[in-house]
Amino acid sequence: MLDVLIIGGGPIGLACGIEAKKAGLNYLILEKGCLVNSLFNYPKNMTFFSTSERLEIGGVPFMTTGPKPGREEALEYYRRVQIAFDLNIHRFEEVLSVQRLAEENRFEVQSSQEMYPTRKVIVATGFYDIPMKLNVPGEDLPKVTHYYDEPHYYAGQKVIVVGASNSAIDAALETYRKGAEVTLVVRGAAIGERVKYWVRPDIMNRIAEGSIRAFFNSQVLRIDPKEVRIQTPEGEQTLANDFVIAMTGYQPHFQFLQNLGVQLEGARKIPTHDVESMETNVPGLYLAGVVCGGLDTHLWFIENSRVHAEKIMQHIQHTSS
Ligand code: FAD
Repeated sequence: MLDVLIIGGGPIGLACGIEAKKAGLNYLILEKGCLVNSLFNYPKNMTFFSTSERLEIGGVPFMTTGPKPGREEALEYYRRVQIAFDLNIHRFEEVLSVQRLAEENRFEVQSSQEMYPTRKVIVATGFYDIPMKLNVPGEDLPKVTHYYDEPHYYAGQKVIVVGASNSAIDAALETYRKGAEVTLVVRGAAIGERVKYWVRPDIMNRIAEGSIRAFFNSQVLRIDPKEVRIQTPEGEQTLANDFVIAMTGYQPHFQFLQNLGVQLEGARKIPTHDVESMETNVPGLYLAGVVCGGLDTHLWFIENSRVHAEKIMQHIQHTSS
């Protein structure tokens, strides 16, 4: 019998593992992919907006060459943390279901490999696995991606980037600089408010000089193998196109949460939880990290959610004593 089973080996799942270990609990982290799988799937050249000390967990210093770390440095850091604490983690083992046995005050967690009895469960599953779809014909064509990787692939190609958030703007600027012909299709009237302050002038100037074409108050209507139909304030237009990079955001796995018995509140689908203990409406089942924000994925980061690990462990120890 485990004391606590942690679902997800992202930064916050690891932080929970560290706190569980410090508290002397019998814990296990189950991760369906590699260590910090979401970060592994981030764009290769991305730079975190946080300075490195704000991404630290377990008090392990995060040293970087520049003020803000890149993906490689973050992967290295979290690997080091896992090794330093000798965290008990099974990689490539997905949690399929969780059943609460109320009378026995415990859970049964079924993974892709085994069933684990445990007293408590922490859900730290993030939001990066499920993209927000455009829901237009042709979205499933191989030329469409919701996960931008690196720019070389798009050199010399006609690329439409959908969205105006940090991810979209980074993809537009990078692919443009490696020789793609880039068009931005933006649903709103302007570049997103939260675009990094040092990136904003770059994209504004590229649009102003015409190096990157931008359609605001516009949306994609359909995607065909060699063109894309868009709705603009001036009417519909058809653009010649080779690739679509749809950077329209991501969302937590709501069905997974509901299957665990977690209620979702309001239009933003915020999973019900106590903000002090992080316990959900299911006694003994906790949320940690960015999963707790529902559709408000911009509210939670590594920076401000790493504290969840301590809150949860304090509550577990308090209620178990
Ligand atoms: P995740 O890192 O997403 O970890 C969840 C893990 O759970 C994943 O590894 C996933 O594989 C696993 N999982 C999911 N379902 C299951 C299952 N059923 N069974 C087993 N495992 C499962 N935040 C900052 O603080 N600063 C930044 O500068 C910053 N930059 C960012 C840049 C980009 C491009 C993006 C996309 C996000 C950025 N963020 C930043 C946000 C932050 O990095 C992520 O939200 C962070 O990964 C959250 O950590 P987490 O542990 O809550 O979730």
